[in-house]
Amino acid sequence: MGPKTHETACIFCREKNVSFYFIKQNKYGEYPVLRCDACGAAFVWPRPEQGALEEFYRDLNYSNLSYEEVLSSDSNYYPDSVMDANRIISVCKRFSQGRNFLDVGAGFGRFSKSAHENGFKVSACEPNPNAVKVFTQLNVFEPDSCLFDKQYADKYEAAFDVVLLSQVLEHVADPEEMVLNIYNVIKGEGIAAIAVPHFGSLLSRVQGKKDMFISPPEHLNFFSKRGLVILFERCGFKLEYLHTVTKMNKKRFEHHIPFVFLSTVVWASIYGILKTSELFDMGIVINAYFRKIS
Ligand SMILES: [Zn+2]
Repeated sequence: MGPKTHETACIFCREKNVSFYFIKQNKYGEYPVLRCDACGAAFVWPRPEQGALEEFYRDLNYSNLSYEEVLSSDSNYYPDSVMDANRIISVCKRFSQGRNFLDVGAGFGRFSKSAHENGFKVSACEPNPNAVKVFTQLNVFEPDSCLFDKQYADKYEAAFDVVLLSQVLEHVADPEEMVLNIYNVIKGEGIAAIAVPHFGSLLSRVQGKKDMFISPPEHLNFFSKRGLVILFERCGFKLEYLHTVTKMNKKRFEHHIPFVFLSTVVWASIYGILKTSELFDMGIVINAYFRKIS
Protein backbone atom coordinates (compact mmCIF):
# COMPACT_ATOMS: atom_id res chain seq x y z
CA MET A 1 0.00 0.00 0.00
CA GLY A 2 1.22 3.51 -0.83
CA PRO A 3 1.28 6.46 1.55
CA LYS A 4 -2.00 7.51 3.13
CA THR A 5 -4.04 9.89 0.99
CA HIS A 6 -4.13 13.38 2.44
CA GLU A 7 -7.52 15.04 2.99
CA THR A 8 -6.34 18.21 1.20
CA ALA A 9 -7.16 18.51 -2.50
CA CYS A 10 -4.40 19.57 -4.91
CA ILE A 11 -4.24 23.38 -5.05
CA PHE A 12 -3.44 23.19 -8.79
CA CYS A 13 -5.63 20.45 -10.32
CA ARG A 14 -8.13 20.04 -7.42
CA GLU A 15 -7.88 16.24 -7.53
CA LYS A 16 -7.92 14.42 -4.21
CA ASN A 17 -4.94 12.19 -4.97
CA VAL A 18 -2.62 14.03 -2.64
CA SER A 19 -0.13 12.34 -0.36
CA PHE A 20 2.42 13.45 2.20
CA TYR A 21 5.87 13.75 0.62
CA PHE A 22 8.27 14.94 3.34
CA ILE A 23 9.02 17.73 5.79
CA LYS A 24 11.45 20.33 4.46
CA GLN A 25 13.58 21.69 7.27
CA ASN A 26 15.68 24.82 6.95
CA LYS A 27 16.70 27.82 9.02
CA TYR A 28 13.24 29.36 8.63
CA GLY A 29 11.32 26.38 10.02
CA GLU A 30 9.72 23.05 9.15
CA TYR A 31 7.44 22.85 6.15
CA PRO A 32 5.39 19.77 5.23
CA VAL A 33 5.34 19.18 1.47
CA LEU A 34 2.45 17.34 -0.19
CA ARG A 35 2.58 15.73 -3.62
CA CYS A 36 -0.28 15.27 -6.08
CA ASP A 37 -0.37 11.89 -7.80
CA ALA A 38 -2.90 13.18 -10.35
CA CYS A 39 -0.90 16.08 -11.83
CA GLY A 40 2.59 15.42 -10.45
CA ALA A 41 2.94 18.81 -8.75
CA ALA A 42 3.78 19.44 -5.07
CA PHE A 43 3.16 22.21 -2.57
CA VAL A 44 3.83 23.31 0.98
CA TRP A 45 0.86 22.54 3.25
CA PRO A 46 -0.31 24.02 5.54
CA ARG A 47 0.58 27.37 3.98
CA PRO A 48 2.80 29.64 6.09
CA GLU A 49 0.89 32.53 7.67
CA GLN A 50 0.73 35.74 5.67
CA GLY A 51 2.49 37.68 8.46
CA ALA A 52 5.44 35.28 8.41
CA LEU A 53 5.69 35.61 4.63
CA GLU A 54 5.62 39.40 4.71
CA GLU A 55 8.35 39.37 7.34
CA PHE A 56 10.44 37.08 5.17
CA TYR A 57 10.13 39.34 2.13
CA ARG A 58 10.90 42.47 4.13
CA ASP A 59 14.19 40.89 5.14
CA LEU A 60 16.86 43.06 3.56
CA ASN A 61 19.01 40.06 2.82
CA TYR A 62 16.46 39.21 0.22
CA SER A 63 17.60 40.70 -3.08
CA ASN A 64 20.10 43.13 -1.58
CA LEU A 65 22.39 43.26 -4.60
CA SER A 66 23.55 46.61 -5.93
CA TYR A 67 23.22 47.60 -9.59
CA GLU A 68 26.89 46.80 -10.19
CA GLU A 69 26.53 43.44 -8.45
CA VAL A 70 23.47 42.63 -10.55
CA LEU A 71 25.45 43.33 -13.71
CA SER A 72 28.36 41.20 -12.56
CA SER A 73 26.07 38.43 -11.26
CA ASP A 74 24.55 38.38 -14.74
CA SER A 75 27.88 37.31 -16.11
CA ASN A 76 28.65 34.98 -13.19
CA TYR A 77 25.35 33.32 -12.38
CA TYR A 78 22.93 34.19 -15.15
CA PRO A 79 25.01 34.41 -18.33
CA ASP A 80 21.96 33.56 -20.43
CA SER A 81 19.58 35.99 -18.72
CA VAL A 82 19.50 38.54 -21.53
CA MET A 83 19.10 35.79 -24.13
CA ASP A 84 16.43 34.20 -21.96
CA ALA A 85 14.49 37.46 -21.63
CA ASN A 86 14.72 38.10 -25.37
CA ARG A 87 13.46 34.58 -26.14
CA ILE A 88 10.38 34.97 -23.93
CA ILE A 89 9.65 38.49 -25.20
CA SER A 90 9.90 37.39 -28.84
CA VAL A 91 7.31 34.64 -28.22
CA CYS A 92 5.04 37.25 -26.55
CA LYS A 93 5.40 39.41 -29.65
CA ARG A 94 4.45 36.49 -31.88
CA PHE A 95 1.27 35.78 -29.88
CA SER A 96 0.09 39.35 -29.30
CA GLN A 97 -0.81 42.16 -31.69
CA GLY A 98 -1.31 44.54 -28.76
CA ARG A 99 1.67 46.21 -27.13
CA ASN A 100 0.57 47.04 -23.57
CA PHE A 101 2.79 44.90 -21.38
CA LEU A 102 2.82 44.26 -17.62
CA ASP A 103 5.82 42.69 -15.88
CA VAL A 104 4.60 41.26 -12.54
CA GLY A 105 7.23 40.81 -9.83
CA ALA A 106 9.64 42.48 -12.21
CA GLY A 107 12.71 42.03 -10.00
CA PHE A 108 15.73 43.82 -11.40
CA GLY A 109 13.86 44.53 -14.63
CA ARG A 110 15.70 42.37 -17.17
CA PHE A 111 12.46 41.30 -18.86
CA SER A 112 11.00 44.82 -18.79
CA LYS A 113 14.13 46.07 -20.52
CA SER A 114 13.85 43.49 -23.27
CA ALA A 115 10.09 44.14 -23.68
CA HIS A 116 10.71 47.88 -23.94
CA GLU A 117 13.47 47.36 -26.51
CA ASN A 118 11.11 45.16 -28.51
CA GLY A 119 8.48 47.85 -28.87
CA PHE A 120 6.19 47.04 -25.96
CA LYS A 121 4.73 49.81 -23.80
CA VAL A 122 5.89 48.44 -20.46
CA SER A 123 4.45 48.76 -16.95
CA ALA A 124 5.90 46.84 -14.04
CA CYS A 125 5.29 46.15 -10.37
CA GLU A 126 7.81 44.95 -7.81
CA PRO A 127 7.42 44.94 -4.01
CA ASN A 128 11.07 44.76 -2.95
CA PRO A 129 12.52 48.30 -2.48
CA ASN A 130 16.05 47.26 -3.43
CA ALA A 131 14.92 45.55 -6.61
CA VAL A 132 12.95 48.70 -7.49
CA LYS A 133 16.14 50.72 -7.11
CA VAL A 134 18.14 48.43 -9.41
CA PHE A 135 15.23 48.21 -11.87
CA THR A 136 15.19 51.99 -12.20
CA GLN A 137 18.93 52.05 -12.98
CA LEU A 138 18.64 49.28 -15.55
CA ASN A 139 15.56 50.75 -17.27
CA VAL A 140 14.50 54.17 -18.41
CA PHE A 141 11.34 54.07 -16.27
CA GLU A 142 10.25 53.17 -12.74
CA PRO A 143 8.12 50.18 -11.72
CA ASP A 144 5.18 50.52 -9.33
CA SER A 145 6.66 49.73 -5.94
CA CYS A 146 3.96 47.32 -4.77
CA LEU A 147 2.62 43.78 -4.77
CA PHE A 148 0.43 42.52 -7.57
CA ASP A 149 -2.78 41.95 -5.61
CA LYS A 150 -6.54 42.29 -6.00
CA GLN A 151 -6.37 46.04 -5.49
CA TYR A 152 -3.76 46.41 -8.25
CA ALA A 153 -5.74 44.12 -10.57
CA ASP A 154 -8.92 46.16 -10.01
CA LYS A 155 -7.08 49.39 -10.75
CA TYR A 156 -5.72 48.06 -14.06
CA GLU A 157 -8.70 46.02 -15.19
CA ALA A 158 -8.37 44.91 -18.85
CA ALA A 159 -5.40 47.24 -19.36
CA PHE A 160 -2.75 44.86 -20.77
CA ASP A 161 -2.26 42.73 -23.88
CA VAL A 162 0.57 40.71 -22.34
CA VAL A 163 1.23 39.94 -18.68
CA LEU A 164 4.52 38.28 -17.73
CA LEU A 165 5.24 36.41 -14.51
CA SER A 166 8.77 35.10 -14.51
CA GLN A 167 9.75 33.22 -11.34
CA VAL A 168 6.72 34.55 -9.45
CA LEU A 169 4.03 31.86 -9.19
CA GLU A 170 6.23 29.51 -7.19
CA HIS A 171 6.31 32.15 -4.42
CA VAL A 172 2.67 33.05 -4.00
CA ALA A 173 0.48 31.85 -1.14
CA ASP A 174 -2.65 31.56 -3.29
CA PRO A 175 -1.79 30.73 -6.93
CA GLU A 176 -5.43 30.53 -8.03
CA GLU A 177 -6.20 34.01 -6.71
CA MET A 178 -3.09 35.24 -8.51
CA VAL A 179 -4.15 33.69 -11.83
CA LEU A 180 -7.64 35.24 -11.48
CA ASN A 181 -6.03 38.63 -10.88
CA ILE A 182 -3.94 38.10 -14.04
CA TYR A 183 -7.14 37.27 -15.93
CA ASN A 184 -8.66 40.57 -14.79
CA VAL A 185 -5.83 42.80 -15.99
CA ILE A 186 -5.67 41.17 -19.44
CA LYS A 187 -7.48 42.87 -22.28
CA GLY A 188 -9.56 40.87 -24.80
CA GLU A 189 -7.78 37.67 -25.79
CA GLY A 190 -4.44 38.73 -24.39
CA ILE A 191 -1.54 36.58 -23.26
CA ALA A 192 -0.19 35.44 -19.88
CA ALA A 193 3.49 34.43 -20.18
CA ILE A 194 4.68 32.23 -17.32
CA ALA A 195 8.08 30.94 -16.22
CA VAL A 196 8.32 28.66 -13.17
CA PRO A 197 10.78 26.02 -11.94
CA HIS A 198 9.79 22.60 -13.27
CA PHE A 199 9.14 20.03 -10.53
CA GLY A 200 9.12 17.26 -13.14
CA SER A 201 12.53 18.19 -14.54
CA LEU A 202 15.29 15.64 -14.82
CA LEU A 203 17.34 17.63 -12.31
CA SER A 204 14.44 17.76 -9.87
CA ARG A 205 13.87 14.00 -10.22
CA VAL A 206 17.51 13.21 -9.63
CA GLN A 207 17.66 15.51 -6.60
CA GLY A 208 14.39 14.21 -5.10
CA LYS A 209 13.85 15.67 -1.63
CA LYS A 210 17.05 17.69 -2.01
CA ASP A 211 15.51 19.62 -4.93
CA MET A 212 17.17 23.06 -4.90
CA PHE A 213 13.88 24.75 -5.73
CA ILE A 214 12.07 23.34 -2.67
CA SER A 215 13.02 26.32 -0.53
CA PRO A 216 10.13 27.43 1.68
CA PRO A 217 8.98 29.96 2.69
CA GLU A 218 10.42 31.53 -0.48
CA HIS A 219 9.06 28.81 -2.76
CA LEU A 220 5.73 27.23 -1.83
CA ASN A 221 4.54 25.83 -5.18
CA PHE A 222 6.33 23.15 -7.19
CA PHE A 223 4.73 23.00 -10.63
CA SER A 224 4.30 20.14 -13.04
CA LYS A 225 3.34 20.97 -16.62
CA ARG A 226 -0.07 19.36 -16.12
CA GLY A 227 -0.77 21.13 -12.80
CA LEU A 228 0.11 24.53 -14.30
CA VAL A 229 -2.07 24.00 -17.37
CA ILE A 230 -5.09 22.77 -15.38
CA LEU A 231 -4.83 25.74 -13.00
CA PHE A 232 -4.87 28.23 -15.90
CA GLU A 233 -7.64 26.40 -17.76
CA ARG A 234 -9.81 26.50 -14.64
CA CYS A 235 -9.28 30.28 -14.46
CA GLY A 236 -10.38 31.02 -18.05
CA PHE A 237 -7.27 30.52 -20.18
CA LYS A 238 -6.26 28.15 -22.96
CA LEU A 239 -2.72 26.97 -23.55
CA GLU A 240 -0.99 28.39 -26.64
CA TYR A 241 2.50 27.01 -26.20
CA LEU A 242 4.52 25.25 -23.51
CA HIS A 243 8.09 24.08 -23.46
CA THR A 244 10.78 23.48 -20.87
CA VAL A 245 14.25 24.98 -20.90
CA THR A 246 17.45 24.32 -19.03
CA LYS A 247 19.44 27.34 -17.99
CA MET A 248 21.96 26.81 -15.31
CA ASN A 249 25.65 27.43 -15.14
CA LYS A 250 28.36 25.79 -13.10
CA LYS A 251 28.72 28.57 -10.53
CA ARG A 252 25.01 28.81 -9.89
CA PHE A 253 24.74 25.05 -9.60
CA GLU A 254 27.52 25.06 -7.00
CA HIS A 255 25.96 28.05 -5.29
CA HIS A 256 22.73 26.10 -4.76
CA ILE A 257 24.41 22.90 -3.71
CA PRO A 258 27.06 23.76 -1.11
CA PHE A 259 30.23 21.71 -0.90
CA VAL A 260 29.97 20.62 -4.50
CA PHE A 261 32.84 21.86 -6.60
CA LEU A 262 32.74 20.30 -9.97
CA SER A 263 35.57 19.75 -12.33
CA THR A 264 34.98 21.31 -15.72
CA VAL A 265 34.76 17.90 -17.34
CA VAL A 266 32.20 16.59 -14.85
CA TRP A 267 30.20 19.80 -15.22
CA ALA A 268 30.24 19.53 -19.02
CA SER A 269 28.77 16.01 -18.75
CA ILE A 270 26.10 17.04 -16.25
CA TYR A 271 25.15 20.09 -18.28
CA GLY A 272 25.04 18.04 -21.47
CA ILE A 273 22.60 15.62 -19.87
CA LEU A 274 20.48 18.46 -18.45
CA LYS A 275 20.36 20.23 -21.82
CA THR A 276 19.35 16.97 -23.52
CA SER A 277 16.49 16.69 -21.01
CA GLU A 278 14.86 19.66 -22.77
CA LEU A 279 14.29 17.38 -25.75
CA PHE A 280 11.90 15.21 -23.76
CA ASP A 281 10.38 18.20 -21.94
CA MET A 282 12.22 17.63 -18.69
CA GLY A 283 14.07 20.96 -18.66
CA ILE A 284 14.57 22.92 -15.43
CA VAL A 285 12.12 25.74 -16.17
CA ILE A 286 8.60 25.61 -17.63
CA ASN A 287 7.81 28.41 -20.08
CA ALA A 288 4.09 28.56 -20.84
CA TYR A 289 1.96 31.00 -22.82
CA PHE A 290 -1.78 31.11 -22.14
CA ARG A 291 -4.45 33.04 -24.00
CA LYS A 292 -7.36 34.54 -22.12
CA ILE A 293 -10.71 33.23 -23.34
CA SER A 294 -12.83 36.39 -23.35
ZN1 LIG B 1 -2.69 18.04 -8.82
